[in-house]
Amino acid sequence: MKTNLRRHLLLSSIGLAAAALSPSLQAQTVKPPAPIQAVASFSILGDLVRQVGGDRVAVEVLVGPGSDAHVFQPTPSQARTVGQAQIVFSNGLGFEGWMSRLLDTARYKGQHIVVSRQGIKPLESKEDEDHHGHEAHKKDHDDHGHGDIDPHAWQSVPNTMAYVSNIAEGLCAVDAAGCESYKRNALRYRAELKALDTDIRAQWAAIPAQQRKVITSHDAFGYYAQTYGVQFLAPQGMNTDNEASAKGVAQLIRQIRKENIKALFVESISDPRLIQQIGRETGVKPSGELFSDSLSDAKGSAATYIAMMRHNTESLTQAIRGL
Ligand code: ZN
Repeated sequence: MKTNLRRHLLLSSIGLAAAALSPSLQAQTVKPPAPIQAVASFSILGDLVRQVGGDRVAVEVLVGPGSDAHVFQPTPSQARTVGQAQIVFSNGLGFEGWMSRLLDTARYKGQHIVVSRQGIKPLESKEDEDHHGHEAHKKDHDDHGHGDIDPHAWQSVPNTMAYVSNIAEGLCAVDAAGCESYKRNALRYRAELKALDTDIRAQWAAIPAQQRKVITSHDAFGYYAQTYGVQFLAPQGMNTDNEASAKGVAQLIRQIRKENIKALFVESISDPRLIQQIGRETGVKPSGELFSDSLSDAKGSAATYIAMMRHNTESLTQAIRGL
């Protein structure tokens, strides 16, 4: 007993002496490792990488909130950022037509993770129909020969759950010491996504199938439409140049009446008089904004992926229910 106590005291005093002699050494052992330098191609993906990476990963986003990933031109400073990164994440499916050239320019040698590479069933793009807006997709696709694939897979939550697994796998490959933490974060975040998916299905379940019709100029909701049983109709008669003809407007009004459409999200029509006219003649009030390819800024209603999906679903279902 006495010896034990003495040994205990001795050990503590050695510990204290070590701490007193070398405080910097002590500080070093508790300091977290330098974060992994990651680059994500666009804001939505940036949020997903942050969710999985946590404190261990510093994420730079190339195409920030409110910007269009289809027509992106990287700056020299962004090319430098990419050159110094340890891991780069892109969506793939022909979304970032500029990525391979950027990686070449930056002489990038690290990991490049295409987050759609596993667990996604790519959808055919509907762009061969009447095409409205999102002209950059077409261009991007024509340049890279992916014209028939819709890149917006994240608009279906189960696909995003697959993205999250692919992100965790990628981070494990560059940071084995953090792998447990990435897996844990991915598990937690996937559970949140599962709950989100259940909520979205419940909101749509409250609306009869034949009423689930939306007019939008965006062609970015194919995966959402398929997963949640919603029909997104392109406004017939509207031209990509936004120069709405009287004939085009008349056609759109006929379509809204004929298909009894209550949700109108016509983003490429910027003339408020036209919107007002359509509203007056059909009794359908045009609804607010949908987020497809980008998050909002931090103060907006779509600052994270989960907030974006909730915002879109609420906007769509409220418009249909006439709220
Ligand atoms: Zn898009």
